[in-house]
Amino acid sequence: MNAMHARNSVLLLFVVLFGLACLSQSALASRPKRPGAPTSATKARQLLVPDLSPPLRTQPLQAPAALPDRLRGIIRRVALPAGDRRVALTFDLCERSVHVTGYDAALVDALRRGNARATFFAGGKWMRSHPEATLSLMADGRFELGNHAWTHANMAVIAEPRRTEQVLWTNAQAELLREELDRRRAGAGQPAFGPRPLWLFRLPYGRGNAETTAFLNNLGLAVIQWDVVGEGGSGSASARALAIAEAIRPGSLVLLHANQVPRDTAAVLRALLPLLRQRGYATATVGELLAAGSPETVGDGYFSIPDDNRIYDRMFQDEGTGGRARPAGSAGSGRKPGR
Ligand SMILES: [Zn+2]
Repeated sequence: MNAMHARNSVLLLFVVLFGLACLSQSALASRPKRPGAPTSATKARQLLVPDLSPPLRTQPLQAPAALPDRLRGIIRRVALPAGDRRVALTFDLCERSVHVTGYDAALVDALRRGNARATFFAGGKWMRSHPEATLSLMADGRFELGNHAWTHANMAVIAEPRRTEQVLWTNAQAELLREELDRRRAGAGQPAFGPRPLWLFRLPYGRGNAETTAFLNNLGLAVIQWDVVGEGGSGSASARALAIAEAIRPGSLVLLHANQVPRDTAAVLRALLPLLRQRGYATATVGELLAAGSPETVGDGYFSIPDDNRIYDRMFQDEGTGGRARPAGSAGSGRKPGR
């Protein structure tokens, strides 16, 4: 019992630290390079007022296909046929309304050098802030993009119609960028990729419940969590990579970030990829794992043990602002005052 208490305390500490990291990004006031430039030197910066302006298109033209019943629920990992030792590395690209985060180009370079496949869950506003990075990810056949809400709203508590906007605005932003990608390809004499509506969703803070999940599933989105938290350990990058490799099993979904939170994930990844190969693992996208196996689902989202992320309901409630208070009609907001 004491051991369990100690473990739970460690997990709670990690969850709190993770939340504080989300908050403290706004305090990392440094001047970024050109927004969206695929450079590892991009830094977080503070915006004085929440940016709640909508994307240029708010209703996506294309919707994902109806979600098969077997993919409903909150998916923690995928049970694969015997002998299939693939795992999915997943990277969130979070951006709340009050800041612009960044893009970890060194991490993506490490994936490419290792010829690893990966899934990126991108915030809609993040894609708008980082268009070139998004286009680069979209153009790489090893990578798959999913939806991580417009401004990282806590989907367990946000009210309608803003909840729907968090999802549809993000798919619409991705659609706009796919169209731009195909315009560029046409200009270069290359065939179009065509539309590819986002159909995977990652809950910000992992917060969700049965009702939220049904809402997302009814929109055609599969809700993807993780069974391995790839961040928050201690020690060198090599030591943390070893801890991840030991926690992984076939069909695992690994939670990581590619928006420079934390900032040394590229080093962990450079150590992790050879370790996975040594242990006979291969990387796959989440979509590839789902096509090959049976998802293992839960009713409520969590980090490592059930309910360990409910603390976020007090920290992040509204549209990724860090609280319910929002100055009505503030600059940068395209919203009607008082809504
Ligand atoms: Zn996130």
